[in-house]
Amino acid sequence: MLIDSHCHLDDYENLSEILANAHASGVDKLLAIGIGSGPADMHVALDLANQHPEIFATAGIHPQEAHQATPENLAKLEKLAADPRCIAIGEIGLDYYHLDNPDIPTQQAAFIAQLKVAAAAQKPITIHCRTSELAIPAAKARYEPADAWTDLLRLIAEHWTPTGLPGIMHCFSGNEAQASASLAAGFYLSFAGNLTYPKSTTIQAIAASAPADRILVETDAPFLTPIPLRGQQNQPANTALTAKFLAELRGTTPEAIAHQTTSNFYTLFPTASAA
Ligand SMILES: [Zn+2]
Repeated sequence: MLIDSHCHLDDYENLSEILANAHASGVDKLLAIGIGSGPADMHVALDLANQHPEIFATAGIHPQEAHQATPENLAKLEKLAADPRCIAIGEIGLDYYHLDNPDIPTQQAAFIAQLKVAAAAQKPITIHCRTSELAIPAAKARYEPADAWTDLLRLIAEHWTPTGLPGIMHCFSGNEAQASASLAAGFYLSFAGNLTYPKSTTIQAIAASAPADRILVETDAPFLTPIPLRGQQNQPANTALTAKFLAELRGTTPEAIAHQTTSNFYTLFPTASAA
């Protein structure tokens, strides 16, 4: 059995078919990310979780919507976070890639405010972190020399580590130092379809050597379709392709990866294993 630890299910018109495909590929549980297209519909993932026993949900305000982290929306998040099927807060974090994102202080304030909500609810967080390294020149000029990973790890050390709660680095795409710092801060590294891309040599090296008890697999569907289906719309069933690729990198079997990542997911989310 595999668990897709990060997918966006809000926009599939054929969700029952998507779930059937997942089961057919051995993907029996899914963590649906509740960011919606903004806080107005961050409850949609939880609604799905309450309709389908195989789905768990998160809720959170994505850094691209950080300007919407108003008192009203944070109160909505608090309410969602109290639901037992909302098992994490996220995806939250920093995004210094897109030119039209909220400015850095706005993003950081929204992130800190949501760390407080997560801490109060005693729920882990799932992190989105994107640097301006590969951004267009105008975006680089806007954000640099600030670095999203440096800022993220500093804010986590200050506002999250004292809670003793864990989290996930979703679609981990950082370097060795950022991987080590994330692991030291108690985070799990979750690998998505981009692990299978030929240019992802750094991510592949990290995935090959990360501690077995701290790895997860995800699709980030409908984005980041793994090879050999790259170009098509992604779906949770494709967690199996990334898991198979990860198994080859680590010199083990897909079954062992499935067993390990499922066990890791339930260690991180003990309440999910009872459901
Ligand atoms: Zn996502």
